[in-house]
Amino acid sequence: MKIVPISLPTPFYIGPVNVYLIPEDPVTLIDTGPKTKEAVDTLRAALRANGLAVADIRRIVLTHAHEDHCGLARALRDEAKDAEVLVHGWETGHRAGRLEYDETRQLLVRAGVPPDELEVMRRMYAGVRQYADSLDDGHCGELTDEAELEFESGVLQVVHTPGHTPGSCSFIRHADRTLIAGDCVLKRITPNPILSPDPVDRSRRFRSLEEYLVSLARVRALAPTLVLGGHGDAVHDYEELFNRYLRAIRDRQAQIIQMVPAKGATAWEVSRAMFPGTDNVHRFLGVSEAVAHLDYAHSEGKLALEISDGSEVYRKLA
Ligand SMILES: [Zn+2]
Ligand SMILES: [Zn+2]
Repeated sequence: MKIVPISLPTPFYIGPVNVYLIPEDPVTLIDTGPKTKEAVDTLRAALRANGLAVADIRRIVLTHAHEDHCGLARALRDEAKDAEVLVHGWETGHRAGRLEYDETRQLLVRAGVPPDELEVMRRMYAGVRQYADSLDDGHCGELTDEAELEFESGVLQVVHTPGHTPGSCSFIRHADRTLIAGDCVLKRITPNPILSPDPVDRSRRFRSLEEYLVSLARVRALAPTLVLGGHGDAVHDYEELFNRYLRAIRDRQAQIIQMVPAKGATAWEVSRAMFPGTDNVHRFLGVSEAVAHLDYAHSEGKLALEISDGSEVYRKLA
């Protein structure tokens, strides 16, 4: 079973996205790239180079529902005459054009984001949404942990690896322990756990960093020899990367705890202290990262958390 990596351009800061073609029955595309002319033209050329066309795609599998990964899913599905689209059930909040902003807004308010910033973030959301068509429930089948995707000459097994988003999935070929990991494992950067509602109780927020650490350990237990990520080069030494991630997360946690002043601070205030002078997108990513780390420190008993005026204030322990 051949796995063909295809790099597609994106309009996002992160740069090109990797999608993966399995050019055998049923012809399958893992992730699709964003809904831009550049991405779809590049994809068509890559399919052609493999003797295929969009119409030949029978199955579209999504590692997660961020626009750079899922943006073309709807259009490709339609062009390929109802190819099957598969995504994890916990990804529903993201699927309909990223998160429903109202839910995210509640989480941002609780994180202490001020009203003018909320408006900036809302506009940013609206801007990013144009790079993906929504997928309705009727368009999608559900990926479930440990399910098997069968091909003519092999099998990929689904590994639910929540963290970056709640429904992030990876796919392993056990024969040679090759793992397709979406944004769970990236060579150059520690993936940012994005602020998300909890898929089970949408009024709460998803404990992204704790879930992510469990996912990293689970991937480690699979001992992959090759990890194909959603951006950048493949990873040949996951063990080394795993240790680097853990160190980076530990260092960041220590740094963030340090930044909580004696009188306490919201996640927004901590993120502003950590990342002063960042642009709009990075202010959102910054507050996501701060929330993830503060929640994790709180659950480890290293910080106290109180509600004050509708927002959550973290305090150093006495
Ligand atoms: Zn992503
Ligand atoms: Zn990505």
